[in-house]
Amino acid sequence: MKTSTVALIAVGAVVTVGIGYAIYFDQKRRNDPEFRKRLKRERKRLLKVKKSEEEAFKNKAAESISQALDEIANETFPVTNQDKEKLFVEEVAKGEELAARGEEFYNEAAVSFFRALKVYPSPVELVMIYQKTVPEPVFNLVMAMMSLDVKRKQELYYKVYPPAEMNVRIDELPEGVTDDGKQIIRRGLVATRDFDEGEVIYTEIPVVSALEPALEGQDFCNFCLKQIPASESTVTCSIGCEKVVYCSTDCEKKAVAQYHQYLCTSSLSLSSKEHEFATYATKNNVKYPGMIARFLATMVYEETTKVPTGRDDEYNTWDHIERLRFLEVNPGPTEALEIKLLKELLGPKVPGIDEFVTEERYLTLKGKLQYNAYGVETVAEGEKTVPKSPEQHRNARSTSPAHPLTGAALYRATSYLAHSCEPNTAVSFPRRTQELALVATRPIKQGEELTTSYVQVDSDGEPVRGHVERKKELADAFRFKCACKRCEREEAAAASSDRD
Ligand SMILES: [Zn+2]
Ligand SMILES: [Zn+2]
Ligand SMILES: [Zn+2]
Repeated sequence: MKTSTVALIAVGAVVTVGIGYAIYFDQKRRNDPEFRKRLKRERKRLLKVKKSEEEAFKNKAAESISQALDEIANETFPVTNQDKEKLFVEEVAKGEELAARGEEFYNEAAVSFFRALKVYPSPVELVMIYQKTVPEPVFNLVMAMMSLDVKRKQELYYKVYPPAEMNVRIDELPEGVTDDGKQIIRRGLVATRDFDEGEVIYTEIPVVSALEPALEGQDFCNFCLKQIPASESTVTCSIGCEKVVYCSTDCEKKAVAQYHQYLCTSSLSLSSKEHEFATYATKNNVKYPGMIARFLATMVYEETTKVPTGRDDEYNTWDHIERLRFLEVNPGPTEALEIKLLKELLGPKVPGIDEFVTEERYLTLKGKLQYNAYGVETVAEGEKTVPKSPEQHRNARSTSPAHPLTGAALYRATSYLAHSCEPNTAVSFPRRTQELALVATRPIKQGEELTTSYVQVDSDGEPVRGHVERKKELADAFRFKCACKRCEREEAAAASSDRD
């Protein structure tokens, strides 16, 4: 006889209680390749049901799964832990009772087990418990519901994001064909109304940003990247380090809560992991490892502070970031060292980070920064010269002739902005902070795709280099072959002048 689910959960619950953010990492595993493989195997198993009777049962099941999910989508799930626990216990008991009554109650049983799954802090763990305790057909139904639920949530994303007030939507756009004739689809930003030249389409705050390491602790805010005018005083770290400064107490508070509490070197010995991490960035003049540390810390902050509503159209930072394109980063000694430093830095403070930061995930995050980050320019007075970073020219999108820039930042919507050598928008930083404003550089019609240039193309209306060099620069930094109208035109012109 199978063990009761309730009995096994009692054991599991002890482990998970009090680790709020474990929910976070755990839910993410649902999107993990390994876990998806398991789901796929389960689905395959479900599909292998051969007899026609069972086939009919399965079709009926698929239909009722879809219906059940529709209903569950309209339910309001409890928010407090106490209410969640109550619902959880009720649904598991109900599921067990229904499953015991026989086959015709399997669907209803699966719905109950699925509801319990929605409120359990550690869904993957619960799935493993179900596998041991729930009759196989019911378990298969729960798995099918789960995978359909994940799929639906993924599709819903682009319907609710970006919000209407940003005046853009993310569309699937054709991007040529593969060698064997398959259509390539990419996602790009499309205007949802007309814009005049010079009009601001939207403004956006980044997910994560960082100053050039050489500017840290000088007159630049560690949080919003703003240059602090000489006439204003800087705000120092409330924990006590002297490595960073802020433009306001507001920025200081946010930085400490979201990430600096993990990175601060105050009253720590020079051999501490915090010092080692900070020194690595300064010595090598690199921002991306620090940005990844901030990003991970911010995810934990978000997970431990936000009030969950249980709604399906809520997306967290990871949901936003995991969809973004990224450059393949090959693992090397540099990355191995960075992962080690990062784990030593965050590991003792953030249980679970060790398993979360796999080599693959670190390289992916780095590749996302390399492909999507924008150079941020905030110098308001005087001139700043900082040593050129090995990351800078090659990796951040920027049309600025002023190199080096103040820092770099990763944005949610703006990451979808495609490159063109004759773009219809430009990225700017009018408040001289990390807040990005997307400005129309010519009249734009509703439904038109928005583009920007990832590199400087012209200066005072004159091209800064020929199309061959420009294409090479784009290919080197972002690994794509530019096929914009301008490149086509200039190539055709060059070809015809060759013939003359
Ligand atoms: Zn600031
Ligand atoms: Zn500090
Ligand atoms: Zn081009």
